Amino acid sequence: MNTNELWQVVLGELELSLSKANFTTWFKQTFISEIDRSTIIIGVPNMFTKAWLEKKYSREIIKTLQDHSNGVLKQILYRVEMKPTNPLDIPIVRESEPVQEPQRFQSTPSASGYQEPQEVRTGEFSLNGKYCFGTFIVGKQNELAHAAAQAVASQPGGVYNPLFLYGGVGLGKTHLLQAVGNELLRKNGNTRILYITCERFTNDFIGALRSGRMNEFKNRYRTVDVLLVDDIQFITGKEGTQEEFFHTFNQLYQNNKQIVISSDRPPKAIPALENRLVSRFECGMLADVGSPDFETRVAILESKCKEKCYPMDRDILHHVATTVQVNVRELEGALNKIIAFHQFKNTRPTLDSVKPILTSFAPTNTKKNITPKQVIHTVAGYYDIQIEDLLGKSRQKRLAFPRQVVMYILREEMKASYPSIGTELGGRDHTTAMHAYEKICNCLNKDEKLQHDLELIKQRLYTV
Ligand code: ADP
Ligand code: MG
Repeated sequence: MNTNELWQVVLGELELSLSKANFTTWFKQTFISEIDRSTIIIGVPNMFTKAWLEKKYSREIIKTLQDHSNGVLKQILYRVEMKPTNPLDIPIVRESEPVQEPQRFQSTPSASGYQEPQEVRTGEFSLNGKYCFGTFIVGKQNELAHAAAQAVASQPGGVYNPLFLYGGVGLGKTHLLQAVGNELLRKNGNTRILYITCERFTNDFIGALRSGRMNEFKNRYRTVDVLLVDDIQFITGKEGTQEEFFHTFNQLYQNNKQIVISSDRPPKAIPALENRLVSRFECGMLADVGSPDFETRVAILESKCKEKCYPMDRDILHHVATTVQVNVRELEGALNKIIAFHQFKNTRPTLDSVKPILTSFAPTNTKKNITPKQVIHTVAGYYDIQIEDLLGKSRQKRLAFPRQVVMYILREEMKASYPSIGTELGGRDHTTAMHAYEKICNCLNKDEKLQHDLELIKQRLYTV
């Protein structure tokens, strides 16, 4: 086996355990650059991929490599390099005979398109300066989205184009989208950045059509360096707007201009979204933003207190983080309410004075609280399979599909983080959970039987 074949085997195995988006994002442009005795050097497109692969996938890769190289390969290193047109083709076990070096280019971030001074900046669609990376707290549930946004800000129009961020309301999508814009402006005040909500884009488009100003419209959207589109899910069913957005997208994309999009769900799960747009949105990088866990909620509260120069005891912050769980926006709202109340009364907050203020933020009890165990039990019962089998390793469809349904419910109904879902299901990787969630979202779009099944499962879950 030569190195190319070996890498193909590794990629083949990884592909099985990752979602398509994840696989494409991280592995599409990788290749074996060099093998030096027991060390294998993988070429990657940028520092971001390097850091991510080192952190997340090294163990898995090295295991597969060892399996297929009779244990010869023991160490893996990553190096930022462009993929050569003819990747290295060498036998795996070699002494130290010279190997002809393939043509190689050092990758340098392209700065073209960001230098010429331009007249407009953000105009009426201005960015809010408070949404920057410095004020964004990173936890497990948003680390991928955060890292990707930073990568885009450091290399716009590079590999992560478009960057598609998705997740529920109040979880920081707008914050990240604007942080990309703010960071680029900080580095170069002449960068033309357009931040726009999908709604605004739609209205603008309709206005331009009505007033016969399409050229002006096209000019405005198609000549920017960076386009940030917030809440794209509202484009659903608007065919004309979709068509126009498709052309805007293509024009910018072809010119290596960066596009960042946010949505409350992944592209495939947006109803009535044209396939060609789905595939455009998926061709870059998809990153999800989940609900913050307890520790992240406390860290966010601490940072907001600091920002507002209003220190608060840790036990009070813990109480707030325990009571308000839904999203960051509510968390901030609760904090503001506490501060306003005590400033008005001119007193300092105590645990006792804070509790009554938070009653309106307590989780509503209209839905019975459910636990992951109950979900697993109910789904197993519904599909008539054993719990051990559901949690086990078998990939038989009759087991794998209900397993994905469990993951979907844990995500959709309980807002569990992907890593925690992986743990609940017998120690699976978070990417497996992501893949399952996306898959079921996708199936739900077209499969009426599945919709019906889920209704019944939920009924059992909440009423029994
Ligand atoms: P979304 O667009 O996902 O609905 P936003 O970006 O508007 O959510 O976030 C809601 C509020 O919560 C904003 O004030 C934002 O600054 C804050 N926020 C969200 N996530 C974080 C975070 N990880 N760290 C700090 N602030 C956050
Ligand atoms: Mg938003």
